[in-house]
Amino acid sequence: MDNIMASAGLARASGSRPLEGRVAVVTGSTSGIGLGIARALAAEGAMIVLNGIAEPIEAENQCHVLGASYEVPVLFDGADMSNPASIRDMVERVGRSFGAVDILVNNAGIQHVAPVDEFPEGKWDAILAINLSAAFHLTKAVLPEMKRRGFGRIVNVASAHGLIGSPFKSAYVAAKHGIVGLTKVVALEAAEFGITCNAVCPGYVWTPLVESQVDGQAKAHGISRDEVIRKVFLAEQPTKRFVTIEEVAGTTVFLCGEAASSITGVALPVDGGWTAH
Ligand code: NAD
Repeated sequence: MDNIMASAGLARASGSRPLEGRVAVVTGSTSGIGLGIARALAAEGAMIVLNGIAEPIEAENQCHVLGASYEVPVLFDGADMSNPASIRDMVERVGRSFGAVDILVNNAGIQHVAPVDEFPEGKWDAILAINLSAAFHLTKAVLPEMKRRGFGRIVNVASAHGLIGSPFKSAYVAAKHGIVGLTKVVALEAAEFGITCNAVCPGYVWTPLVESQVDGQAKAHGISRDEVIRKVFLAEQPTKRFVTIEEVAGTTVFLCGEAASSITGVALPVDGGWTAH
């Protein structure tokens, strides 16, 4: 389902909100952190392109709810983040409907938990494609127009696992370390063009992605589901609670704003102190 499906909402008078008139693409925004980021950017007035895996009716409903709640135009594009051609087509479609992309949030991600010597090769390839290569293809597609216009904000949703490793997550940790590296290079190349590129590195946030790991972690560690939450997810997170979607979204909005114009190339932990160990 590649086509933009619906738009909803009316733009408010220009200039009343900080991101008014900005076009924001948030990949993987039909769920979890991405949806939270899309909401937070819409609240600041940005025009939103939702993306992710969703049934048409669900996508249409999300466009409608977001557009009506924040009075911004919202589109859905179902481009598959594992497919470079599909990614490039999405940027073209967005250009035709909304204009050039001002804010790109590379958020789509998947996970698989297994020891390296049992890790399915197909899962490795899919995680690298969706969690890392998609950010390269999208960044490459939007940068020329950002450079020409002298403005851009790219936020890559990495992870605490972009800074440290954990057992049984070889592909995810490799992809997230990779995206932190990509962030630095894009920041350096784009700095003179009014474009910033940063990574946010959340600790554990309770979303479908984390929920789906509980059984795999329980099996890999030989412990119960409750123990996974206490001994695996929150053991190293000093706050002893999950990071909230709103905390990650608020950090992303900050990085997209005027006050963050000189912040570029950083990998910012939003992890309750996990990586301070
Ligand atoms: P989620 O499962 O709730 O959302 C993932 C999103 O990605 C969904 O919208 C899904 O449709 C989309 N997606 C998956 N495959 C896709 C594909 N091929 N093409 C397009 N979209 C696709 O997960 P989440 O926890 O909200 O994760 C979002 C991001 O945050 C990921 O990059 C993840 O690695 C990162 N992250 C999550 C946590 C956490 O604890 N939840 C911690 C650190 C980083």
